[in-house]
Amino acid sequence: ETIGENFERAVARFGEQEALVDVAAGRRWTYAELDAAVDGVALGLLARGVAKGDRVGIWAPNCAEWVLVQYATAKIGAILVNVNPAYRAHELAYVVQQSGMRLLISAVTHKTSDYRAMISEIGFADAIFIGEDGWDELIENGRRGDPAALRARAAELTFDDPINIQYTSGTTGFPKGATLSHHNILNNGYFVGELLGYSERDRVCLPVPLYHCFGMVMGNLGATSHGSCIVLPSPGFDPEATLRAVQDERCTSLYGVPTMFIAELAMSGNFDLSTLRTGIMAGSPCPVEVMKRVVSEMNMAEVAICYGMTETSPVSTMTRGDDGLARRTETVGRVMPHIEVKIVHPETRLTVPRGAPGELCTRGYSVMLGYWGQPEATGEAIDAARWMHTGDLASMDGDGYVNIVGRIKDMVIRGGENIYPREIEEFLYGHPDIRDVQVIGVPDEKYGEELMAWIVMRPGAEPLTAEQIREFCTGRLAHYKIPRYAHVVDSFPMTVTGKIRKVEMREQAARLLG
Ligand code: ATP
Ligand code: MG
Repeated sequence: ETIGENFERAVARFGEQEALVDVAAGRRWTYAELDAAVDGVALGLLARGVAKGDRVGIWAPNCAEWVLVQYATAKIGAILVNVNPAYRAHELAYVVQQSGMRLLISAVTHKTSDYRAMISEIGFADAIFIGEDGWDELIENGRRGDPAALRARAAELTFDDPINIQYTSGTTGFPKGATLSHHNILNNGYFVGELLGYSERDRVCLPVPLYHCFGMVMGNLGATSHGSCIVLPSPGFDPEATLRAVQDERCTSLYGVPTMFIAELAMSGNFDLSTLRTGIMAGSPCPVEVMKRVVSEMNMAEVAICYGMTETSPVSTMTRGDDGLARRTETVGRVMPHIEVKIVHPETRLTVPRGAPGELCTRGYSVMLGYWGQPEATGEAIDAARWMHTGDLASMDGDGYVNIVGRIKDMVIRGGENIYPREIEEFLYGHPDIRDVQVIGVPDEKYGEELMAWIVMRPGAEPLTAEQIREFCTGRLAHYKIPRYAHVVDSFPMTVTGKIRKVEMREQAARLLG
């Protein structure tokens, strides 16, 4: 099944159900209305001569049109290129050139008005701006288009065709363009929705960026493959707007990376969240304390943790509602249906014994077609037997529950001891004055590396010193795991997907220690 076919089935079944709400724009669509709007955009793109396999970029913050373009490009077999809303001109130039982009759909809002300037700066001619002349013309042409042309195009598509290039978050380096098929992302979105028990009664609040798989696959495709409604609270992340949308739109599900939930927990008491039932925390390590508070303070009894990466469509493991609170907060769950997971020694690539840490590898329908235009990088990531090597360290217990220990690149080696920052972060979350914490390795002459804790204090708390941190840890953590340095900050350097950029923290720390 292609994404278009799957969507058509939802429309036939759930036509009068609400499908999409853009809260900031104050607009809503039923499945039948969304279908008509998607077809309008698809016909408009056909009228512009967009061929199967052409790369069509979308560079806009979250908005309903993003969703229209996602389904319209899938329907005509164009390859949607997700452009990160935070990119500046040189990064835009890179993805435009790297993907061989034919058309770019962008938006001009008060926050993004410089998109137009950057697009002309890089000399890209074929851009359309949502809400402006180019967009209106596209819609107008679509209205005049012949639906038969759309059916003819649909007949040329297969579910293995590439339809999406998603650049990775760029947490560890320059983003790579994961090329994904209908089959890759539709299946993954579907199974995420299945495991969350989605139906036409669910309303899914998405403060996460649509340009990332968390939004467009786990969110949009997870919802529309089950007749659920997509609720977009605001163009960029805004905790208050998110909680208000949950309350006013009576959402049953809420997604976020850990930092988003941390911000929401600070004000969740002011909102009626009684309709919430489930949701997803994912994207980076999910602190146990934060998970527990989300369950008890945000009424998300069935909240799940997902683990995955852009290259694997994205979700590889996920917790289930019946896993029990401990496993649902302390692990990233078990492997998804129809996917394989194994844990190997990073060098020998042999499977390690259960419980031992190693590199998580995954195989199945979810593994991307490859990195766009980068056969060498693809060959390094996917081995001859089609296993995707994730670069993440994990362990699996006897019952198949997976623990993410950290990224291989973030592991700290101090005096010959392997240290996983995650463990120390979890421990420090237990400090009453600490709101958020990250631990990194910094160069050290004697030990090779030393640990530094970056700390965000709770409002009103006095900044903690390194000495106080060490006192708190002494006797409760092995001596070599106790951070030598502490650094109090207001926030961490982050990607727009809300991931903490430890690479940048390490650079800043090196300067700090000078
Ligand atoms: P880049 O590959 O460009 O450096 P990135 O890896 O952050 O960026 P994504 O594909 O968005 O880009 O993120 C996937 C990564 O996020 C995983 O490899 C893993 O390190 C981390 N991750 C995702 N979910 C979880 C989770 N539940 N727990 C811990 N880490 C997670
Ligand atoms: Mg990655």
